[in-house]
Amino acid sequence: MRLSNVSQNTPPSGVREVFNRIAEADDVICFALGEPDQTTPAPIIEAACESLRQGHTHYTPNAGFYALRRAIAASYPDRGYTPEQVVVTAGGTEAILLTLLSVIDPGDEVIVSEPYWPTYLGQINACGAIPRFVRTFEEDGFALRPENVERAITPRTRMIIVNSPANPTGAVMSREELDAIARIAQRYDLIVLSDEVYQHILYEGPFASIADSPGMEDRCIVINSFSKAHAMTGWRVGYIIAPEPIARAMTNMHEYSVSCISAFSQAAALKALEAGEPYLRAMVEEFRQRRDMVVEGIRAIPGLRCARPRGTFYLYFNISGTGLDARRFVYELLEHQKVALAPGTAFGSDQEDYVRLSYASSRENIREGLARIAAFVNGL
Ligand code: PLP
Repeated sequence: MRLSNVSQNTPPSGVREVFNRIAEADDVICFALGEPDQTTPAPIIEAACESLRQGHTHYTPNAGFYALRRAIAASYPDRGYTPEQVVVTAGGTEAILLTLLSVIDPGDEVIVSEPYWPTYLGQINACGAIPRFVRTFEEDGFALRPENVERAITPRTRMIIVNSPANPTGAVMSREELDAIARIAQRYDLIVLSDEVYQHILYEGPFASIADSPGMEDRCIVINSFSKAHAMTGWRVGYIIAPEPIARAMTNMHEYSVSCISAFSQAAALKALEAGEPYLRAMVEEFRQRRDMVVEGIRAIPGLRCARPRGTFYLYFNISGTGLDARRFVYELLEHQKVALAPGTAFGSDQEDYVRLSYASSRENIREGLARIAAFVNGL
């Protein structure tokens, strides 16, 4: 049977390729996963169980339960969002797809910073749109340079995706940097999709969103998720906050994709908003300690270098001093020392000098994994 052009033109994920290799090996220390290692906090699990016991086993409204949408809107007290602007989705992943499907036409161009989360590429492709990658650099802390964004704009450009804190780099953009991107969006009449799924996995400074830049109310779509903040990746709950007419279009499109999110997952998400904060704070504190462990550990290995990321649970480090490219580094490390990382090339074609380490793994694993990485590099 003939495959569609879209499916043929969508490359497999470079991170998934590493997973497939791990599946064949024992005793691998895995730093390739993009999810918290903690289990969802008990009160959140209990809220879901209670919802099921009460018989909430049916379809829900397309945009999600009103109580949850109200609680999501209220969780941004300074923005004056209404529940009508909120659409509850199957994780941040579906939030992004639904956004693209609702505002992007085939042939439109979408600006994405590189290195990027590979799903952006797959989803932009799936919509028949064209990704325009704007490279970011280690020396800028991987922040988007406004002048490079502006240079990438063509008459077909329709959207800029901003992801801060960013996967895979852990980069966090400043208020000034975001304001500069916002001004460009206004000058060229572009929509901004602000992917804020790592909003709470932040170690320094208050969180800055491009949604708060002046003049962005009508052109910024925020997506967020319960996955990373509340250790709820498997529950598949995220959301979009958009200007009302766009939110209505998305709600309609939702009917034809997954219709709605399971009721018990929505009950869990509501509980996360009501009672998740202390668990979230403890998890972020644990991640901070692990971040410091991996930064010190990687910096102590000759040939490797990294900045101290201000957000996420990823360390994106430079391996150029080893003489290996990212894929060789990752696959030889896996073969010889049984440590799994993700090659930078999974996040962009110009990323041969980088690999991503997810420290959402126990301290014991981190200690042992760092020792194995040191043994590997020292043996080159
Ligand atoms: N955005 C970024 C940058 C991510 O890294 C991820 C997950 O890895 C997501 C969105 C979506 O996460 P989820 O669909 O689990 O909410």
